[in-house]
Amino acid sequence: MEHMVQQSGILVVSYIVASVLFILSLGGLSNPETSRRGNWFGIIGMAIAVIATFFHPSVSKEGYGLLIAMLLIGGVIGSIVASKIAITAMPQLIAGFHSFVGLAAVLVGINSYMESGQLMGAARIVHETEVVLGVFIGAITFTGSVVAFGKLQTIIRSKPLLLPGRHMLNLIMFLGAMYCGYLVFGVQDLMAQGMPMLIVMTVIAFVLGWHLVMSIGGADMPVVISMLNSYSGWAAAATGFLLGNNLLIITGALVGSSGAILSYIMCKAMNRSLINVIFGGFGAEKPKAKISSGGSELAGEVIPTNIEDVVGMLKEAKNVIVIPGYGLAVARAHHPLKDVVDKLRKRGANVRFAIHPVAGRLPGHMNVLLAEANIPYDIVLEMDEINKDFPETDVALVIGANDIVSPGALEDPSSPIYGMPVIEAWKSKTTVVLKRSMAAGYAGVDNPLFYKDNTRMLFGDAKTSIDTILAQLQ
Ligand code: NDP
Repeated sequence: MEHMVQQSGILVVSYIVASVLFILSLGGLSNPETSRRGNWFGIIGMAIAVIATFFHPSVSKEGYGLLIAMLLIGGVIGSIVASKIAITAMPQLIAGFHSFVGLAAVLVGINSYMESGQLMGAARIVHETEVVLGVFIGAITFTGSVVAFGKLQTIIRSKPLLLPGRHMLNLIMFLGAMYCGYLVFGVQDLMAQGMPMLIVMTVIAFVLGWHLVMSIGGADMPVVISMLNSYSGWAAAATGFLLGNNLLIITGALVGSSGAILSYIMCKAMNRSLINVIFGGFGAEKPKAKISSGGSELAGEVIPTNIEDVVGMLKEAKNVIVIPGYGLAVARAHHPLKDVVDKLRKRGANVRFAIHPVAGRLPGHMNVLLAEANIPYDIVLEMDEINKDFPETDVALVIGANDIVSPGALEDPSSPIYGMPVIEAWKSKTTVVLKRSMAAGYAGVDNPLFYKDNTRMLFGDAKTSIDTILAQLQ
C-alpha cells in the first residue's frame, strides 16, 4: 500500500514537471532565438512523461516487459521515419501523426465505453459525454488528416471537391452524428443498444472529416494543417479525460489551443475567414469577374537572365532583399545562400530576408530553414515589416518562391489566392527569380510577376544557381 502511494506521488510530481516543461517548450518555440531551447524542454518533458508511465498504479511489474517492447518498437519506427524524412515532406509527416492521434482517440473512446455500465448517475453522463466527444473529434481528425496527407503528398488532387449542397450535407452529417451520440447515453444493454449507435456515429464522423478536408482548396491548406493540429490536441485531451490522465489533458489542451491560435494567425495572414476555411469552399463556386490588368500583364514578355548578369547586379546593389520559398527547401540551397549573403554584406550591401507567413509547406518553414543555415535572426524580417522597403531596394532575389510573390493575389479576383497579402517584390528596381521553369506554385496559378519589365528569370535548380553565383563572387 505504502509502495503504491509512493508510486502515485512520483507520478504526480513527474506529470507536474512535464506539464511545466511543455509550457516552457511552447514559450521557447514562439521565438527563433529560443526555439532550440524550447525543443529541448519538449524532449525532456516527453521523456519524463514516458518514464513516469512505469509508476502508474495500473501498470504492474508484469506489464513492464510489454511497455518496454512497445516503447522500443515505437521509438525505433519514429526515429527511422524522422531521420529519413526530407524537410519538404514534414507537413505530410505531421498530417500522418495527427491521424494517429485521431485514431487513438477513437479506439480509446470505443474501448472505454464498456466501462459505462459500472457507473451511475452524473458520473455515467460525464463519462459518456467524454466518450462521444472523444470519438467524434478523433474520427474527424483521423480521416481529415489522412486526406490532408494525400493532398500534400499529391496522391489526392488539391482542387476542392465541391459537391452540390455540400454545406447542407455537412449539417445533416453533423446532426446525424449528434443524434447517434445522444442514443449512446444511459442504455440498458451497452453491447446491443449503445455500441451500434457509437459505431454508426464514428462512421458518420469519418465521412464528415473526409468531406470537410476534401472540399478545402490547395490555397487554404496552411490553415487546414494548423486546424487539424488543433483538433488532434482536443482529441488527445478527450482521451486524457477517458483515461483519467491529467498530463494528457494538459498536453491536449496546450496543443488544441495553440493550434487554434495558429489557425487564426494563418487565416489573418492569408486574409481568409476561419469559418470559411473550416466549412471548406465557401464562396468558391461564385464566379468572379476577371479584371483586365492581370490578364494583360500575363501577356507580357518573360526576360531570362544568366549568372554573370545576376552577379553583376548583386555586386552593384546597395540594398538586397532575399525572398525564400518552397523551392529553396527543395533544392536545399540555404547553406550556399548563407555564404552568398555573407559575401554581399562584407562588400557593404544591406541584405535582408523577407518571410511570408505561408512560405514553404509548413508554418515557420522558412524560419527553420534559415536558422539551420545559421543566418542571423536580425536580418530576417516578416512580410509586414519589410514590404514598405521594396521601392528603395536595388535587387529583390526570389528563390524558389512563387505564390507568395504573386501580384495576382492583389489584382486578379479570379485567382484562388486573391486577397492574400503577398511580398511586393515587383516594387524593387530589379527582381530576379530563381526557379527551374515557368511552372506554377502550390496554388496552381500563373504568376504575373514573371512577365513584369523589371523581372529577370534565372532558370535552373536553385542550389546549382546559388553555388555558381557564390563561385563567381569569390
Ligand atoms: P510555391 O509552391 O508557390 O512555389 C515554389 C516554386 O519553387 C515553384 O514554382 C517551383 O518552380 C520552384 N522550385 C521547386 N523546386 C525548385 C528547385 N529545385 N530550384 C528552384 N526552384 C524550385 O511556394 P511558395 O513558398 O511561394 O508558396 C507556398 C505555397 O504553399 C502557398 O500557396 C501556400 O498557401 C502553400 N502551402 C503552404 C503551407 C504552409 O503552412 N506554409 C502548407 C501547405 C500549402 P519550378 O518547378 O519552375 O522550379
